[in-house]
Amino acid sequence: MTHDELTLIMQTLHFAADRHRDQRRKDRQASPYINHPIAVAEVLSAIGGVQDAVTIAAGILHDTIEDTETTAAEIEARFGHEISEVVEEVTDDKTLSPDLRKQLQIDQAHLKSGRARLVKLADKICNVRDIVEYPPDGWSAERKRRYIAWASAVVDRIRGINKPMEEYFDTLHDRAQAHLSLNASE
Ligand code: ZN
Repeated sequence: MTHDELTLIMQTLHFAADRHRDQRRKDRQASPYINHPIAVAEVLSAIGGVQDAVTIAAGILHDTIEDTETTAAEIEARFGHEISEVVEEVTDDKTLSPDLRKQLQIDQAHLKSGRARLVKLADKICNVRDIVEYPPDGWSAERKRRYIAWASAVVDRIRGINKPMEEYFDTLHDRAQAHLSLNASE
């Protein structure tokens, strides 16, 4: 990675931290939201072995359009077209119902660019890992099971893009299953 690329990544971190500054995750501790995009970038690099700066930067920015006031045009102006394109690809259309958005993620996952699929895979890994390790407050075992089944259905449409991340997801999935059946009475 060049110095310019490292600087770009630091700038996306600064930008995402600022945009997500008032948001919290759904876990019991209500962790700062920015922990999630940082975890996605870490998974891409540490588990996926991804060295492409555009993919890492898009991983850091992946929830800014969907969950903050940020626009694609703004990301393009600051970080360039390649990055904004990937972030747009992983952004759900919030004018649609949650159920339809979930279905579209399954239906369209395989149509996404390679970079977008990598970000999606890392995102699903982090979300499933959080459900096992830092469960969202108030989620029943059934709701967790449904989420994990959906995440798995999306990942199944992405397979073939990054073996280490796919295997890591499978391990997590098995752990989640074991954990949820142990807690089936919840
Ligand atoms: Zn995310």
